[in-house]
Amino acid sequence: MRRILVVGAGQAGLHLAAGLLRNGYDVTVVSNRTPEDIRDGRVMSGQVIFGTGLGHERDLGLDLWGDACPPIDGIQFTVPGPDGGRAIDWAARLDTPARSVDQRLKMPAWMAEVERLGGKIVIHDATVDDLEAYAAGYDLVLVAAGKGRIASLFERDASRSPYDAPQRALAVTYVTGLTPRPEHSAVCFNLIPGVGEYFVFPALTMTGPCEIMVFEGVPGGPMDCWADVRTPAEHLARSRWILETFLPWEADRCGGVELTDERGVLSGRFAPTVRKPVATLPSGAAVLGVADVVVLNDPITGQGANNAAKCAASYLSSILERGELPFDRAWMEGAFERHWEDARHTTAWTNALLAPPPPHVLEILGAAGRLPEVASRFVNGFDDPSDYAGWFLDPAGAGEYLARIGASGEMS
Ligand SMILES: Cc1cc2nc3c(=O)[nH]c(=O)nc-3n(C[C@H](O)[C@H](O)[C@H](O)COP(=O)(O)OP(=O)(O)OC[C@H]3O[C@@H](n4cnc5c(N)ncnc54)[C@H](O)[C@@H]3O)c2cc1C
Repeated sequence: MRRILVVGAGQAGLHLAAGLLRNGYDVTVVSNRTPEDIRDGRVMSGQVIFGTGLGHERDLGLDLWGDACPPIDGIQFTVPGPDGGRAIDWAARLDTPARSVDQRLKMPAWMAEVERLGGKIVIHDATVDDLEAYAAGYDLVLVAAGKGRIASLFERDASRSPYDAPQRALAVTYVTGLTPRPEHSAVCFNLIPGVGEYFVFPALTMTGPCEIMVFEGVPGGPMDCWADVRTPAEHLARSRWILETFLPWEADRCGGVELTDERGVLSGRFAPTVRKPVATLPSGAAVLGVADVVVLNDPITGQGANNAAKCAASYLSSILERGELPFDRAWMEGAFERHWEDARHTTAWTNALLAPPPPHVLEILGAAGRLPEVASRFVNGFDDPSDYAGWFLDPAGAGEYLARIGASGEMS
C-alpha cells in the first residue's frame, strides 16, 4: 500500500486525501488546526463552487450538504453609470447551479470523513524539518497549505505571475436578512470602474442559510477602507457605507441585514502568485505543491476553491495512473503541468479582470445585455474559464464571435 502525506486540511488537501483513501492508499493529513479551531474560527473565503468542482466533490461522496445549501442559479452583472444608475445590468442562469458551504462547516466534516475512510489526521504546524521527515517516510508528500507560510518554500514563477503586489483590498461579510433577488438566485457581481468590485450570493454557514458579501477594493481607492475597522459591528457598518455610496440598489437589499456571527468577517490582501510546483528540501528531497500553494489567484472571479477541487481531481488521476512507479521530480512536474493546462486559463482570465477592461470586453459586456446567448456564455465560463481564451481574452476572437451572432457594432 503506497503511503502519501498531505500537509493542509483545506479544500484541496482533504479532497485529495478522500480520493486517495477511496482508492486504497495509506493517507496521513497534517493540519495546523483542529476541527474545533476551524469551526470556532474566522471565515476564510466566499468559496462559491461551480458545477465541475461540485461534480468532483460528488464523485467522492463529499457533497454532504445537498439541499441544505441554497443553490446559486445564475450570475447578475452590473456596472453603475456616471448618473448613479445602472449602465450595464443583465443576468443569466448557470447550466448547473453553484453552491457555497462555509469552510468552517465543510472542513471539520471532511476531516471526519477522511478519518471514517481510514485516513489519519495529525494536528501539527508542519515545518521544513517535518517535511524532511515526511519525505523520508512516505512515497509522496503533497503540500496543500493554502496561503500558509510554508508555501514560500515554493519559488515564485515570474513568467506566470504578472503581478508582484496585491491588486485588491479584500473583505468578506457574512450576513442574514438580505432581500433575495426577485427572479432566480445569483451571484450579483457589481463592477465599479476604478473603485473595485462587490459581489454577494447565498450560502450555507454554521447557523443556516446566509448571504456572503465580498468586497474587492482597488488599492488606495475608496473601497480600500478596512485598516481602521476594529470590531465586527464596524465591519458591517463599513460594508453598508460602501453599498450606500456606490451601489444604492445593493444597499436597498440590506435594510435588515445582521452579521451571521462575530467571526463572519474578514479583511486582507495578497499578491496573485503562481509558483514552481516542486520544492526541493535541504536534503534534496522533493515535495509537490497543491492548489493555492502553487496557483494563488485573486478572488475576483471566485475560482480558488474551484481550482483546488480541479487540482485535487487532476492530481488524483496522475497518482492513480502512476501505479507502483516512483513519484519523482519529473512525475511531479508532469502532474502539475497537466493541472496547469486547465488552471492557466483561470489565471489568465482572473488576472485580466484585475486590469481595466479593454474595448472588446466592454463590447462583450454591453452585448450580453441585449443578447442572452452572450450573457449565458459569459456566465457559464465561470465553470470552465478555458472558454474565455477564444473570445473574452482575444480581441480578434471576440470580434468574430460578436459578428457571427449579429452583435458587432451595436454598442451605443
Ligand atoms: C475573500 C476571499 C473570497 C474567496 N471566494 C472564493 C469563491 O467564491 N470561490 C472560490 O472558488 N474560491 C474563493 N476563494 C479562494 C478559496 O477559498 C481558496 O482558493 C481555497 O480555499 C484554496 O484551497 P487550498 O486547499 O489550496 O487552501 P486552504 O483551503 O486555505 O487550506 C489550507 C489549509 O492548510 C493549513 N495549513 C497552512 N499551513 C500549514 C502547515 N504549515 N501545517 C499544517 N497545515 C497548514 C491551513 O490552516 C488550511 O487549513 C476566496 C478567497 C478569499 C480570500
